[in-house]
Amino acid sequence: MFVPERHQTVPVPIKSRNAAVAVGGNHPVVVQSMTNTDTADAAATAQQVAELFHAGSELVRVTVNTQEAAAAVPEIQRRLWDIGVDVPLIGDFHYNGHVLLRKYPDCAEALAKYRINPGNVGKGANHDKNFATMVQCAVDHRKPVRIGVNAGSLDQELLGELMDVNANASVQQPAQAVFLEAMVQSALRSARAAEELGLHKEQIILSCKISKVQELVRVYRALADRCDYALHLGLTEAGMGHKGIVSSTAGLAILLQEGIGDTIRVSLTPEPGSSRTQEVRVAQQILQSMDIRPFLPQVTACPGCGRTTSSYFQVLSQEVERFLTQRMPAWKKVKPQAANLQVAVMGCVVNGPGESRAAHIGISLPGTGEAPRAPVYEDGEQVCTLEGPTLAQDFLARIEAYVARMA
Ligand code: SF4
Repeated sequence: MFVPERHQTVPVPIKSRNAAVAVGGNHPVVVQSMTNTDTADAAATAQQVAELFHAGSELVRVTVNTQEAAAAVPEIQRRLWDIGVDVPLIGDFHYNGHVLLRKYPDCAEALAKYRINPGNVGKGANHDKNFATMVQCAVDHRKPVRIGVNAGSLDQELLGELMDVNANASVQQPAQAVFLEAMVQSALRSARAAEELGLHKEQIILSCKISKVQELVRVYRALADRCDYALHLGLTEAGMGHKGIVSSTAGLAILLQEGIGDTIRVSLTPEPGSSRTQEVRVAQQILQSMDIRPFLPQVTACPGCGRTTSSYFQVLSQEVERFLTQRMPAWKKVKPQAANLQVAVMGCVVNGPGESRAAHIGISLPGTGEAPRAPVYEDGEQVCTLEGPTLAQDFLARIEAYVARMA
């Protein structure tokens, strides 16, 4: 395994009632997500936070955009505690965070972290004043903050300042390079201001999200070069379906491979009516595919070709995937190492035995012209041959037994 060395950052503890999630330093890369319910609807929001938590989200962000939303936050937390969910809730503030955090101290206390967007805290003199008010709330309540810069809401005054400097420079940079530099400077200047206002480095996380992969990479490399604040990573507005998943994976994978990123979110637009939890599973899969952090046993399955006699191996792969996903919560309590399990489900003799031997446990189904029997391999050795109508059931039983034996 060639796991990248992490860019060293200052760890930030984020506390819930009885637990703490540490972001940065040598701590595992943390998966987070965000609700899309109206936060003022405490019941719906608590339910979605619980779904995200059960899917594996270790931090959950909720928008706090109105007085009703701020008033609902303590109620959301109570409802979650009532159903045994203790996950740090993060408040996402824009425009009026300085008002809401002061006016609703119970909300300020219930939240485990505040997201401050320096592009949306006000203009002119109000910018610094409102920013200072939010930071003071974080100091008073001993909460960490994420200074979350976003390309779509970049501080226009700072951008104008840097554009003017560039216009008068002897060698001028392209406008987009100045824009990206403004994003980085917005984050760094705000972080320094937050420290001057009383926050410690152990309370500050930075992010600079943008929706284009190459620009995201450029911005985060610059951030990592120029600071040791913990970094939240995400391609903003990644979009829907394959496009959102592939773009997020492309951007995050480059940076994670360079050791950049202490917590990640995959900002997918869900298909209408589909579950919000997809973004959690994609984030986990990115980390697991890169051998950065295991969450679920992985299935190696061949794509199938003209040698496969039927779609049976696809059905079996799916059945195995479903079984592993269902069993993992129980295994997690007694066999957490099951998250590292590699299972192979292969379609014929060409690559089947090889991949099956390389996995912890694998099965090579018969392809065209092969005898209707499927050899099973465990730790590189053939241990039996399965066939007939109970083949799937028998293979799942072997997986269960294998996990029970895992040291
Ligand atoms: S393992 Fe066999 S069935 Fe699967 S893709 Fe390779 S040749 Fe085709």
